[in-house]
Parts: sequence; C-alpha cells; structure tokens
Amino acid sequence: MLPVVTVRHLNHAFGKGELRKPVLFDVDLDIQAGEIVLLTGPSGSGKTTLLTLIAGLRSVQEGSVQVLGQELFGANKQQLVQVRNQIGFIFQAHNLLACLTAQQNVGMSLRLHQDLSLEARIARSTEMLTAVGMGDRVHYYPNSLSGGQKQRVAIARALVSEPKIVLADEPTAALDSKSGRDVVEIMQRQAKRQNCTILLVTHDTRILDIADRIIHMEDGRLARDTALLGSIA
Ligand code: ADP
Ligand code: MG
Repeated sequence: MLPVVTVRHLNHAFGKGELRKPVLFDVDLDIQAGEIVLLTGPSGSGKTTLLTLIAGLRSVQEGSVQVLGQELFGANKQQLVQVRNQIGFIFQAHNLLACLTAQQNVGMSLRLHQDLSLEARIARSTEMLTAVGMGDRVHYYPNSLSGGQKQRVAIARALVSEPKIVLADEPTAALDSKSGRDVVEIMQRQAKRQNCTILLVTHDTRILDIADRIIHMEDGRLARDTALLGSIA
C-alpha cells in the first residue's frame, strides 16, 4: 500500500535576502495508513513548520510532499483545499467557535457532505461526541466546558468526517496531565477504529506510549525515528 504521506528532500526557509532563515533541511519521511506517529523535539526545531507543510497550509518551496497521492509542490489553490478537506486538525488551543454549541461545532466539519441531511449531520455529531465522552454536553457552549472537555469536542470535530489523516499540534499542551492523557487515549482509540493516520506534535513525555512510532527532530532535521515494539500488532 502507498504511504499516506511521503516527504522527500524537503527544505524550507522563512524570510528573504539577508533575513532568510532556513528551518528544515533535507527531510525525508513516509507515513503509512493507520500509523500513529508522534513528532517530538525542542522548541524551534521545525515541528510546526513540517506539520503545516504536510497540511497544505503553506507552500512547499523545495522538495516533495505527497499527501494522499497529491503532490503539494507546485499544487494550485484548489488542489491544496482538496487535500485540506481530507485532513482533520487539532491545535493546542481548541479553536471552537464560541457562538456554537458542542454539537454545532462538530457539525461544522460535515458541512462539505452535502449528501447528508441536517438530521443525519446532527445524529453523526451526537454519536461522535458520545464516543469522546461528551454525550451529556452536546448542547453546551465552549465557555461552559473545561479545557479537557473543549479539546474532546475538538477531537470529535476533527474525526467526525472520518478523515484519512489527523494532524495535531501539541493538543495536550494546555491540559493537566490527567486530561491530556484522556484526550490522547480517546484520539488513539477513535483513530484505530477508523483506520485514520495521526501525526501528533508533542512535548508531553507522558503520552509517548500511545504512538506506533516516535520521530525526533533537532535543528530542522529528523534525528531519530523509532518504531515502538509493543505497538506492532
Ligand atoms: P517548533 O514547532 O518545533 O517549535 P517551528 O516550526 O514553529 O518549531 O519553528 C522553526 C523555526 O522557524 C523557529 O526558529 C521559528 O522561529 C521559525 N519560524 C516559524 N514560523 C515562522 C514564521 N512564520 N516566520 C519566520 N520564522 C518562523
Ligand atoms: Mg510548534
């Protein structure tokens, strides 16, 4: 089977002229379908930059990034949007819309599914919220939820459309260790159920064991790539 993400000879720099600052150097990476990959490394090592390139959120300057069969180098806007629509995103701050309930926030992710009736979208959102342990809070607004609860809603929102890939940038950073752990375990369980690939950036050493594989970045390079034995089924 083809990898869902293939990165070859990827270089990236910010700024121009004298201010030009290279931040990624010759990155090569393959991620297989269904893998849970954690990306670790010191602050400033290039983790978010790599994630946003794979996400189609910034243009590839040099090298190749293929996501779900689409080459992102030289891709046009429409191709980038098409790739983004197949990816679920989870960020450090949950980014929920304050004026929408949990269920409406999750339902937003299904707006592209025009074949689904409003009733079906509500049903799927409720089902997904129940799966992340938020079934009794579907009509709550973000302001009345705790940090961990908001992040669960964000997970439900990222997964409800059954994306092939979820990209998460320090999703537990704002949470205490217990809720952080709960949140990634829920993410892991749902992803395995949906055969979804996860690429998750984290500093949080307490969650490393949810990974199938841990990639360590240093100074813009992939320094180590470790498969976790326990996870090979
Ligand atoms: P990490 O996520 O590992 O902390 P980043 O990918 O955010 O690292 O940043 C890598 C390097 O690129 C850092 O030196 C950072 O200052 C720089 N950088 C990140 N984003 C930008 C930007 N938009 N403009 C200029 N420099 C940036
Ligand atoms: Mg970062």
